[in-house]
Amino acid sequence: SPLVGVLAVQGDVREHVRALEEAGARAIGVRRPEEISQLDGLVLPGGESTTIDKLLRTFDLQQPLRERIADGLPVYGSCAGMILLADQVKDGRPDQQTLGGLDVTVRRNAFGRQVDSFETDLEMTGIEGGPVHAVFIRAPWVEAIGPDVRVLATVPDGPAAGRVVAVQQGALLATSFHPEVTGDHRIHRYFVTQTLRT
Ligand code: GLN
Repeated sequence: SPLVGVLAVQGDVREHVRALEEAGARAIGVRRPEEISQLDGLVLPGGESTTIDKLLRTFDLQQPLRERIADGLPVYGSCAGMILLADQVKDGRPDQQTLGGLDVTVRRNAFGRQVDSFETDLEMTGIEGGPVHAVFIRAPWVEAIGPDVRVLATVPDGPAAGRVVAVQQGALLATSFHPEVTGDHRIHRYFVTQTLRT
């Protein structure tokens, strides 16, 4: 079975490890540069993208991860992880950097203070068996996409209706929301069985 790393410098690592194992992968937390070369895939968890960015640089993880992403490493980024995959960030910190690779512009903390955190059910392309319960926590949304990016899900209704919250570009998958907290592992299974094979 494939070995999937979960970036473990900050954020909700344990839930992703469990979800990946239930999706049929082997999963390990990744903190050190020498752990990267063995990976068949990587999950970038939610957390705080500015903190994760700083720690990636401090721990010398940024460069090796950028190289593997450029080489086609399948990566799934959730929330802060989506920001870290994005080529462009709006409302980031002035010195904020990303790993990049995903040809999108995301807006950080996009849903605004009143609706900091919310939950909704949404249909997601590629995920069968009914809607996904999507939990958004100070989430980004995708504001612009390049020609090779496919939109997999949008917010169905409410003030943010139509906003893009799940995308895929080849081996790179990103959601604004946190499937790992719901016990529904279909998106992790999609990553392990579909994205990892592309
Ligand atoms: N607002 C956070 C950030 O900018 C993301 C929040 C999350 O990952 N739940 O990184």
